[in-house]
Amino acid sequence: MLKIKIEKTAHPKPKPTGPLGFGSVFTDHMFLMDYTADKGWHDPRVVPYAPIVLDPAALVFHYAQECFEGMKAYRTAAGRVQLFRPDKNGERLRSTHERLCIPPIPVDDFVQAVKALVAVDKDWVPAEEGTSLYIRPFTIATEAQLGVKASSAYQFCIIASPSGSYYPTGIDPVRIYVEDEYVRAAPGGTGAVKCGGNYAASLLSGEKAHRLGYGQVLWLDGVERRYVEEVGSMNCFFKIGGVIRTAPTAGTVLPGITRMSCIELLEGWGYPVSVAPLPIEDVMRADEDGTLEEVFGTGTAAVISPVGELKYRDRAAVINGGRIGPVTQRLYDTLTGIQYGRLPAPQGWITEVE
Ligand SMILES: *Cc1c(COP(=O)(O)O)cnc(C)c1O
Repeated sequence: MLKIKIEKTAHPKPKPTGPLGFGSVFTDHMFLMDYTADKGWHDPRVVPYAPIVLDPAALVFHYAQECFEGMKAYRTAAGRVQLFRPDKNGERLRSTHERLCIPPIPVDDFVQAVKALVAVDKDWVPAEEGTSLYIRPFTIATEAQLGVKASSAYQFCIIASPSGSYYPTGIDPVRIYVEDEYVRAAPGGTGAVKCGGNYAASLLSGEKAHRLGYGQVLWLDGVERRYVEEVGSMNCFFKIGGVIRTAPTAGTVLPGITRMSCIELLEGWGYPVSVAPLPIEDVMRADEDGTLEEVFGTGTAAVISPVGELKYRDRAAVINGGRIGPVTQRLYDTLTGIQYGRLPAPQGWITEVE
C-alpha cells in the first residue's frame, strides 16, 4: 500500500464545454512518484498539474529511457466511475520497465496510484455518450548524465485528459496502407513493450501513408516483411472464412489489453480464433476469393476500429463493402457495454473508483 499525499490545487481550471477532442486538455492534478537508488520508489503524491523541470542532461532526453501506458476511466449512467482491467496495464508497465532496465512498480501500487488521481479529479470524467477520461501513466529517466547507461533516478507520473467520443459521427471504417518499406519492430527489439522510441521510429511511415491518402499503417514483420503484425497503436484481427486470426504478440507485437479481451470474448461466443503468423499474401488472396469477411483494429483509444480498405503494393482490398461487419460491431457493443456499465462484466474486468 502506498501512502499517497494529496495536495489539491487552489486554482481549479474551468471544465471544457462543447465537444471534447483527444489529449489536449488536462485535469487539475497529476500523480508523481520518484525513484532513487537509496530510497527506491518514494514520495507518492497527487499534486496540482504543472510542468516538470528536468536537468538538460537527464537521460530521458538523450537515450529515450521512457515508457508509458494508456487507459481510460468511464462514467456509468448511474454516475459511478470505473476502470477497465487496470491490473493488466500495471502488469504490462512492469514488463516494459523490465525491458528498459527501469526498477519495477508493484501492480497494486500502480492501480492504487491511478485510482487516487481519478478520485481527486473525478469531476473531470465526462458523462456524455462515448466520452471518457483518458489516463496516461509514464516513466522517465531523470539522472543528469551523458554516459549511456540505465539511469539511477526516475520519475513516474500520471496525467489525465477528458476525451471525446472516438466516433462522434458514427463508426467510420479506416483505410489502411500496408507498409513494406519501413518496419516497426524486430525480434529481440522493443516492439512488445510500450516505449516512446517505437513511436518516434514509426512517424515517417505514418506521414507517408497520409500523403498517399491512408489513415493508418499496417506493419509487416521486420525480418521477411511478409507477416501482418499490427496497426499504428492497435492490434489487428482478420476474419477469413469464418476463422478470426490475429498475430502472436511474442517479441514484436504489443500485447494489447483490448486484443486480449476480444480474444476472450470471441472464444466465449464460440468463434474459432487463430493466434498464428498470417502472411499478407493470404489476406490479399482471401480478398480475391471472397473469404476476407472482416478486418478490425483494437486498442484503448479507438476501442474497435473497422478497416474498410487495405492497400498492399498495387492491390487494394475493400472489406465488407467498406462497412463495419457483424462480429466487429458485436465486439464494439459488448466492450463498450462492459466499460460503461451497461452490460455485466466478466470477473475482474471492472474496478470501481470510490
Ligand atoms: C497501446 C498499443 C496497442 C493497444 O493496446 P491496448 O492495451 O489495447 O490499448 C496496440 N499497439 C501498440 C503499438 C500500442 O502502443
